[in-house]
Amino acid sequence: MEFSQKDVENIVRSIVKKTMAQSETPSENTVVNNFGESGVFDKMKDAIDAAHSAYLTLSADYTMEDRQKFVDGIKKFTLDEKNKLAQMVVDETNLGNYHDKILKHELAARSYGTEVLETKASSGDTGLSIIEMAPFGVIGATTPVTNPSETVIANSINMVAAGNTVVFNVHPSSKNVCEYVIRKINEIVISLGGPKNIITMVKNPSMESLNEMSSSPKINLLVGTGGPGLVSALLRSGKKAIGAGAGNPPVVVDETAIIEKAAKDIITGHSFDNNIVCILEKEVFVVDSVANQLISLMQKEGALLVNSSDAEKIKNVIMTQQGVDSNGKTKYVLNKKWVGQDPYKYLDAAGIPYSGKPKCIITETGFDHPFVQKELLMPILAIVRVDNVDEAIDLAVLAEHGNRHTAIMHSLNVRNLTKFAKKINTTIFVKNAPSIAGLGIGSEGTASFTIAGPTGEGITTSRTFTRARHCTLVDGFRII
Ligand code: NAD
Repeated sequence: MEFSQKDVENIVRSIVKKTMAQSETPSENTVVNNFGESGVFDKMKDAIDAAHSAYLTLSADYTMEDRQKFVDGIKKFTLDEKNKLAQMVVDETNLGNYHDKILKHELAARSYGTEVLETKASSGDTGLSIIEMAPFGVIGATTPVTNPSETVIANSINMVAAGNTVVFNVHPSSKNVCEYVIRKINEIVISLGGPKNIITMVKNPSMESLNEMSSSPKINLLVGTGGPGLVSALLRSGKKAIGAGAGNPPVVVDETAIIEKAAKDIITGHSFDNNIVCILEKEVFVVDSVANQLISLMQKEGALLVNSSDAEKIKNVIMTQQGVDSNGKTKYVLNKKWVGQDPYKYLDAAGIPYSGKPKCIITETGFDHPFVQKELLMPILAIVRVDNVDEAIDLAVLAEHGNRHTAIMHSLNVRNLTKFAKKINTTIFVKNAPSIAGLGIGSEGTASFTIAGPTGEGITTSRTFTRARHCTLVDGFRII
């Protein structure tokens, strides 16, 4: 039997049509879900079920290239709308400042996608073994009010790149901006041909919805970014949990530092977004021989120096005394409404005169002062004068309270730098730069908003949200 050119063309056309029709039919593993597609649900159960259904579809029908396409879409949206998002966060949370929040959204858009996922392979006489970075499944993530949309965006990029879907229980005081972001992410992913509800949230998050998320059998991994209460709650859940908790980053300045640069870097880092970011400089330990020079140069960089009696007035505004601790020391409770405000507001409330617009408030204190011991998240920086670098390092380690979060040192002495880095053993250790360099602002640091100190994963990336899947092929060549 002979075929004409026309017959061949018709046969090819019919095969192509059939193949295309098949590819539009969901595969066996695909779950056709009946949820809406905004990602936002009234009930936590529905948010979990929708993300679970999205995971089954994502893992069955989409490639790593598809995931990168979705991630690129989320990054583009973030950069296109960074100004709007920054304003929405300021308006809703009343924390920090608009300008720095634009930078934070730019940083979130730099989170790693699939490029850091790699398969390891080894081969030998008996066959081949590969270790792939596989997804966990559905991740339950909790976010802080201090970086709300930034964390939702950075987590979504990392987690989706790694092949997961995500349910968010966001901080209630930032639920509107997070809802906006989650709706947008779903719109983008669907417009790029992806599954619906790849990222979901409960519309009105609460402790109850968090508990429901933590105990759901459909959630394979919990990721908590927030204070110590959140991290310990997740670690008690009985599930695998990644905890990104509080910090209280100390700065050590020794006599070998370039003091002009140290002063500039410390004020730049400390005053970023009114100090609400966990990695920022929270207290300084400076060697006496360079302390006066450092304080004077900090003032030139825009800090307002207040004396101890004015510092006491500010203390009475931002915290209240509450009994004594087991060591007989006075306990203080922070008034959260003062977190992340513009510096002049503390000065006005305490009745302290000033001129211009100070970038932050600095004051000399002793080691036991609550401005040193507590994570204020306010543009108020305590400076402790010490006799030598060893004393500075020892006190800085104590002030960090074992959070293993972030520390900063200004020194040109390699021995001193190494000694502090080893003693404090924090996830992020920044040398001769502002703290924000630790996350990639003006540096080669890694962009992320989830720094997992307590559970040890470090600055989280897409790799963090993968499981190791070992595949072994034995004696493959003998089969042939
Ligand atoms: P937060 O702990 O008050 O809230 C964070 C989230 O946890 C919220 O969604 C909240 O609803 C929930 N939560 C709070 N207490 C809880 C508890 N006892 N049990 C269960 N869930 C709880 O923190 P915040 O004020 O939103 O953020 C600031 C804190 O987060 C600071 O301590 C800061 O250092 C930390 N933080 C850490 C990182 C990091 O990457 N390590 C990043 C940002 C913020």
